[in-house]
Amino acid sequence: MILKKKGLKVTPQRLEIMRYLDKNRIHPSIDHIYTQLKMKNPSLSKTTVYNVIDDLSENGVIQVLTINKSEILCDFNNDPHHHFMCKECGSISDLEDRYNFDIIEQIRSEGFRVDEAFGYFRGLCISCNNKNEKKVD
Ligand SMILES: [Zn+2]
Ligand SMILES: [Zn+2]
Repeated sequence: MILKKKGLKVTPQRLEIMRYLDKNRIHPSIDHIYTQLKMKNPSLSKTTVYNVIDDLSENGVIQVLTINKSEILCDFNNDPHHHFMCKECGSISDLEDRYNFDIIEQIRSEGFRVDEAFGYFRGLCISCNNKNEKKVD
C-alpha cells in the first residue's frame, strides 16, 4: 500500500480519496472530489478533503496540478509526466509517453536535484480540434 510505503497512516479518508483518484483518472479538482464523495459521506467536510490532498501531495503519493489557474487538480499518477489542457472542453490529457525527459538527466548532471517536473501544454484536444476543423469546411 502506497500510503504505508510513504510513511503515512492509513485513515479511512485518505483511503477513500485515494480510491476515488485511482478510479477517476480525469485530474479532478478538490471541489469535484468533495462533491462526489460528499454524496456517500454526508459528514465529510471540505477542509478534510483539502488536508488529505495536502498530506498526499506533500508526501509524493499524488501530484497536484495548477494548470488551471482557478483550481487545484489532483492526479493519482505521481510519475513525472506532462499535461495537455483543452481550452474548449477543459479536459486534461496525460502526455507521459510522448515526451522526452532527457532534460531531467541533463539538469541532474549539472548538479541540480529534480523533485518535480511538469510541462503544461494548452490548445484543443483531439476531439475538439476535429470538431473545429469540420466547422470550417
Ligand atoms: Zn476538448
Ligand atoms: Zn496526469
